[in-house]
Amino acid sequence: MNSSSPIRILIHGASGRMGQALLRLARENPALQVVAAVSRSGAAIDGVDVPMFASADLARCPSFDVAIDFSLPEGFDAVLAACKMRKAALVSGTTGLSTQQREALAQAAHTIPVLWASNFSLGVVVLEELSRRAAQALTGWDADIIESHHVHKKDAPSGTALTLGAAVAAGRGSAPHYASLRAGDIIGEHSVQFTGPGERIELIHRAGNRDIFARGALSAAAHLAGRPAGNHRLADLIFSD
Ligand code: NAD
Repeated sequence: MNSSSPIRILIHGASGRMGQALLRLARENPALQVVAAVSRSGAAIDGVDVPMFASADLARCPSFDVAIDFSLPEGFDAVLAACKMRKAALVSGTTGLSTQQREALAQAAHTIPVLWASNFSLGVVVLEELSRRAAQALTGWDADIIESHHVHKKDAPSGTALTLGAAVAAGRGSAPHYASLRAGDIIGEHSVQFTGPGERIELIHRAGNRDIFARGALSAAAHLAGRPAGNHRLADLIFSD
């Protein structure tokens, strides 16, 4: 990749809560240039001067180096196919993907760089590691993950809860229990709890705004551009600086 020219970004799911945060924050980074914004309808978004495309017209978008996808599982197959066709990288935070979609993503990693993460905040990357270590030390204790999100969130438990659960399972050999709350406009809270006889540890992450996820995804896109094909991990990119 020519380091003097900006990295060309396609935002998929551009009209959504995350898409709009990505469009706003990408403007602050001169290393990135958003060349296309894709949503289900393709309708113009107030204050956005980037070419808009409907998801049905994805094939007609200009060339891009990295697609950043925060849409819904219904839209995921099309953006993955577009990245494979253009040999572009894919950063995706879409949650609730099916087993087949996860397999298709793993297959695509043979030919393009991909990075899927259930949570793009630095705090959750660290929480994942803390949860794994605590679970390793507390194998006989109960382990529970409690997550709270806004009422519009479709999947439950959240993708982040499942990622934290996998870390707990890796540490102690068995999965935790999950509890989900959908209420008001909560952006995202995750509590990993370990309960033993007469004592309890609670590890809690609270997201204060969506910008933390958008900044993490934009930073991941900047790191991923020009890397070899493969399944990249957010922790490796974040801690590689
Ligand atoms: P939203 O409902 O506000 O926006 C969804 C966007 O996807 C819209 O632009 C919509 O037009 C588009 N879309 C829907 N169906 C589509 C289709 N078939 N083809 C193309 N585009 C389509 O949702 P949101 O709150 O912005 O969240 C989007 C996704 O990101 C969800 O899966 C959510 O769970 C996930 N999320 C992930 C993280 C993370 O850090 N990984 C953080 C926040 C949200």
